[in-house]
Amino acid sequence: MMESGLVFTLLFVGVASGWILGYRYAKQKRRKETVNYVPSMEFLLAEANDNALEQLLNVRSINQDALDLYLKLGRTLRDKGEVERAIHLHQSLFARTDLDKIALQRVELELAIDYARAGLNDRAENLLQTLLDSKGAIYDQASLYLIELYEEEGEWQNILDLYQQKRLQGTRNQHRVAHAVCQLAECAHRNKAYLETQKLCRLAQKIDSHNARPWVILADMAFQQNEPREAIRCYLRAIELNANATVHVIDNMVSAFQQIHDISGLDTYLEKHWKQSQFVPALVAKTHALVEQQGVEPGIQYLLRELYQYPTNVGFLALVELVVKHRLQLEKSQLLVLYDILRRIVASEPKFVCNHCGFKAQEPEWRCPSCKSWSTMGPFVATTPKATLDI
Ligand SMILES: [Zn+2]
Repeated sequence: MMESGLVFTLLFVGVASGWILGYRYAKQKRRKETVNYVPSMEFLLAEANDNALEQLLNVRSINQDALDLYLKLGRTLRDKGEVERAIHLHQSLFARTDLDKIALQRVELELAIDYARAGLNDRAENLLQTLLDSKGAIYDQASLYLIELYEEEGEWQNILDLYQQKRLQGTRNQHRVAHAVCQLAECAHRNKAYLETQKLCRLAQKIDSHNARPWVILADMAFQQNEPREAIRCYLRAIELNANATVHVIDNMVSAFQQIHDISGLDTYLEKHWKQSQFVPALVAKTHALVEQQGVEPGIQYLLRELYQYPTNVGFLALVELVVKHRLQLEKSQLLVLYDILRRIVASEPKFVCNHCGFKAQEPEWRCPSCKSWSTMGPFVATTPKATLDI
């Protein structure tokens, strides 16, 4: 191994020196100063041509360190968009007879990623499928890439099939498999196949008991079938599992509570989730419920108080809508609070944007902190739809 490593290193340095000499010769024609070049990966990539690549690939044997370097080169080529050359590199390595099984599997994985990047999804899929029989880190990565590939293609049934063939392991996979099953359940729900929907939701719950989504699907189904109590039970279970589920359920949840006239239940839910998640639609729904129960004044007072604590555009709009709808005259103290809320909303908005990378900033900079370009920052103007009112 030592000997072959030495031979490779010498060859690599030899080829790299060839590039360097050629590069320097070409440069010297243009300018006379001499530069001490260190052959970095970027330099090799910039100067590498197909001949040089062939020379690199024609070494007699490749050890572990050399393989790492080749794979790094391949990844860099791929990231630079030179997918065909990355494929050529990995195919040549894959065809070698001196690499052991693990090394070949590493190459196979890179080749599969190349194929996926080149849009050759069938080839990528075939390679990744064979890698599912491997062990350790390669298996973890291969299963992740294969699931990602199927997710991109919307092949949810394929993910479930792999799971049911017991070819997907690991808790990270379980979460994704459960989401794939939920996709199938939503599809069954759209097709009004209610028993199938229920069966798939139960399966998703079994695969990943922490996933809120099957509960949301079951709740939506109950809601559509005019079973508001069952819908509320399932929605609350979903939110208990993951507070973020609120963003998917709030409209139906509010309707379900209203259908069974459970105003205090609705109030408790909205108050809790506004405080917990700062999800503004919960605040707006709570305000509307208050206006219905106690009248517009307490509703406005509540909304002003909350917005003063947590100013947001959406909340501010809801306040203005209430004022307009009920033709209210605000008191001077309320107007001052309103002014302070709006002032803080405006202060928190970005004022400048980089025309090169889209980075938004509060302060103008000559050099973009994100893409490091000079003189690219200009005023940020939010694109908003044209006015519909004549004034
Ligand atoms: Zn930028």
